[in-house]
Amino acid sequence: MATKIAIEHGLLINGEWVEGHDVPLDIVNPATGARLAKVQCANAKDVDRAVKSARLAFEDGVWSRMPIHSRALVLQRFAATIEDNLGDLYELETSNNGRPLAETRAQISRLPEWYRYNAALLLADRTSVVPMVGPYHSYLQRFPLGVAGILSSFNHPLMIASKSLAPALATGNSVVLKPSERTPMTALLLGRLALEAGLPPGVLNVVPGRGQLAGTALTQHPAVAKVSFTGGTDVGRKVAIAAAGRFAKCTVELGGKTPVIIFDDTPVEVAARGAAFGAFIGAGQTCIAGSRFLVQRSSYEAFVAAFAEAARAIRVGDPASAGTQMGPVICAEARDRILDYVDLAHREGCRLVAGGGVPTVPGCERGFFVQPTVLADANNSMRVVREEIFGPVAVVMSFESEEDALLMANDSQYGLGSSVWTKDVARAHRVASRLEFGLVWVNDHHRLDPCSPWGGVRDSGMGREGGWESFHDFTNLRSVTIRTAADDVNWYGSVGTERLN
Ligand code: NDP
Repeated sequence: MATKIAIEHGLLINGEWVEGHDVPLDIVNPATGARLAKVQCANAKDVDRAVKSARLAFEDGVWSRMPIHSRALVLQRFAATIEDNLGDLYELETSNNGRPLAETRAQISRLPEWYRYNAALLLADRTSVVPMVGPYHSYLQRFPLGVAGILSSFNHPLMIASKSLAPALATGNSVVLKPSERTPMTALLLGRLALEAGLPPGVLNVVPGRGQLAGTALTQHPAVAKVSFTGGTDVGRKVAIAAAGRFAKCTVELGGKTPVIIFDDTPVEVAARGAAFGAFIGAGQTCIAGSRFLVQRSSYEAFVAAFAEAARAIRVGDPASAGTQMGPVICAEARDRILDYVDLAHREGCRLVAGGGVPTVPGCERGFFVQPTVLADANNSMRVVREEIFGPVAVVMSFESEEDALLMANDSQYGLGSSVWTKDVARAHRVASRLEFGLVWVNDHHRLDPCSPWGGVRDSGMGREGGWESFHDFTNLRSVTIRTAADDVNWYGSVGTERLN
């Protein structure tokens, strides 16, 4: 898909489109390998300018002290502007990250909800009066942090940026957004739409740039009061350490190795359909991709056969075509890394039951495709079971009892998503309550909503996106205490009277 959508290819700083001072980025369509655009790229000085412009806008108060009803109205207008431009956003996102149009539509059509939901929280928020001892009226106030730095991953560029952008803006912060160097296109369009919707200049700055340079500069900038990062665990660790060094707030949404526990009371066709959705949506490039399938022994072989058949039936093709169900992975390096894992699985003793290679996709011969792949007979000591592959590769293993399944599922460095498939309601609650993961779905997978806190434990990160939790995490708390006594303070003169402090 050669995009004809008019977007700016510069950096958005202080409401203007400006040149970057690092070597421009060649943005590639992963379905064809062809260049989609050349985009200006920020160096550390450009990032500094963006942060300073965000800080100045913050201090000016044009957004941070705007009456909340007016700020909510701008966010609602932003949501409506996004809605009016959904067609362009679908096309641009698909041509940049390679997700099939149908998937992109399903995800991005919900984007306006994130802005509306956070505008609603802004109007609904209440704080408390606290029962302080003495002649005092003491209450709590929330106030914005200042500048928030948002760094997003390549896989769901708009949704991941918006999960942080919506609450950051709603609470009155200014933002510097650094999209992935591979997928900056829709972030640039979003910047233009924000200006059109009336967001004051400097409140949202967008700086495409390379992670090593622009990303590091943003996460280490002393004026960035909160970093919201989505990406791999190794980079996330560096980001969290940099933020901790200056006591900045930090949310890191990192990698995963999602267990999917299938009990034998689930009909095999139901489990296989659910498994295919969990494993192959986004070509397996999602942090919660179902990647470790734990199947009760009595239905194991039947499940493996049905899952392999479901994987083979997926229509891999040009993501811009209506009938395509799975597109390419993001780049040639990712494709090669995924295929290396398939080789490794073979050496570790797995049985390949579907895929494992590169499909032929007419019209997209230079794209980065991998077949939906299912590997059976795995066990928890294998690297393919323990490491995040981030591609359309699922491994399957068996368990005997509920207790075995829980032990295997929890035995992972990652703790983001998990899912359980059973018809037994009591068991569903019992197992969910013992899964040491930030997200548990029962008889479903990958459900996301603005009201539902999202995030992981262990190496999957810390902090939450969504819900009140994320909204409040973009604020600081202030206690205000007002003396209500009729007499004045006379600490040194009031000998003999009761003193409190
Ligand atoms: P990366 O960690 O490579 O990149 C994430 C972002 O960080 C990009 O903007 C990247 O820029 C930037 N970056 C890279 N190096 C640095 C650095 N040293 N300092 C600061 N920023 C840096 O992740 P991917 O884009 O490859 O995304 C895949 C990963 O994201 C997977 O592990 C996946 O599980 C995880 N993820 C987690 C989610 C969650 O909710 N928990 C959701 C989605 C994905 P650049 O692109 O220029 O390198």
